[in-house]
Parts: sequence; C-alpha cells; structure tokens
Amino acid sequence: MINRRDFLLKSALLSVASTTTLVADAVDNLSIITEKSSDIYLTHEDFITLGILRERFKRLKRFVGYANFNIISYNSSIFYARNYSSIGKFSKEEIYLMERFFYEDPSRYGFYGERTVENISDYIKKKDLQKISRSGHFIFKGTSLESYNRLQHDVDTHNIILTSGVRSVIKQMRLFVDKLYRNKGNLTRTTNAIAPPAYSYHSTGDYDLGKKGFGFANFTPRFALTKEYRELKKIPYIEMRYTLLNKDGVRYEPWHIKAKV
Ligand SMILES: [Zn+2]
Repeated sequence: MINRRDFLLKSALLSVASTTTLVADAVDNLSIITEKSSDIYLTHEDFITLGILRERFKRLKRFVGYANFNIISYNSSIFYARNYSSIGKFSKEEIYLMERFFYEDPSRYGFYGERTVENISDYIKKKDLQKISRSGHFIFKGTSLESYNRLQHDVDTHNIILTSGVRSVIKQMRLFVDKLYRNKGNLTRTTNAIAPPAYSYHSTGDYDLGKKGFGFANFTPRFALTKEYRELKKIPYIEMRYTLLNKDGVRYEPWHIKAKV
C-alpha cells in the first residue's frame, strides 16, 4: 500500500520526469520552431476560398483578355463576374479575403513597403497609359514612359523586353493569390516574394524589364548575370527598386525598375 509520503515523492519525481521530457521535446523542436513557427499561414477555410478565388481570376482573365486584365478595376471585375456566368459571382468569402489582403497591415508578415493604393475601388484611367506594342502591357505616361522611351535610344534594346508594366489592384491581387496558393497559404513567404495588392509600385509607375527569350529566368537573380542587366545598370535615370536586403523586406529583384527621369 502506498503511503502519503511515497505518493508525494512519486508524483514529484513524475512531474520532474515529465517536465524534463517536455524540455527535451522543446529543444528537439527548436530548429523546426525557429524556421517555421514565425511564419503566418491562412486558416484551412481561407485556403479553400483562396483556391476558388484563384480559379475565378483565371476565368475573368480569359474573359477580358491578357492586356485588359493588367489594368482591370475591382468594380469592373465584380460587375463582369456578377453578369457573366462564364466567370460567376464572387462569393462573400472571396470578397472578404480580397478586402483582407488589400486593407490589412502586412508588416506582421515582414513586409515593410509603403502603401501605394488607398482604396480597393481606386482605378487606373486608360488615358494615363501607353500600351506597349507586342508586350500586352502598359506604361504610365510621364516619368515612366519617358524613361522607357529614352532607354530605346540609350541601350541596345534589341534583346530587352517589357515583362510587366502597369498593374491594377486586381492584377496585383491575382499575382498575390497565385503565389500564396503555391506557397500553401504561407503569408510570410509570399509577402517576401510579392507585394500585397495595395503595396505594388507597378500601380504607380514601376515596370519590369527582361531579356528576350529568357522566360521565367527573367524573374530570378539569374537576370543579374546577363549582359542586358549590365547595360541597364549603366543608365542613370533608372534604378532598381528592390536591391539586396532592401528595407521593404522584399527579395532581390534586379529586373524591377524604378523610373526617376
Ligand atoms: Zn516588378
């Protein structure tokens, strides 16, 4: 029969043992924790909605065409989706998710860039844009277009192409949603690779340049190893927006041009 003294001793030992085990487990898990526990993910329900939203964006893009999709407004997207069954109406959950991505403060995910668009319904006027032939993209008239046109004379642009120009809220939203989906809902990783919908400088004048025929590699650090990149680096009236270890918390993007004529 166990007496009270033994009982107390035994429970004390047990509790020490279990505490020790917990500490050991914690130490074991520490490497996993430091890698992943700070990353913020979407909930399972939101991830399901994200997949549905992603498909709807695909249908909307097919409906309006590649070039138009770059500059389509939020309100027009809602309108087309509601009125054309080939796209289908955005659900309450999808709208909530879009508003969340647009309005929430992304600094909690490690993104510290400036907000470039105030309201989700803000739109881009077509008269402020120049369509760049054969690219399917647009550039803002003014500083951006001046720098782009000047480039045509100052460097051998034979091999340099415009890979992304003006982006509306919806276009940036679509890129963000796509990346977030591929990152399995990891918001921290995603905001390191792409600005959230209200934070893209593509909505105010920046554009991306690449090397003809280089494909997806134009959006990797490999672009910085090309002759085309070295030529661009010499141009005084453009600069890179996202340099190595930039303060915005965005990855290195040698292809992303900030115009400053
Ligand atoms: Zn860019």
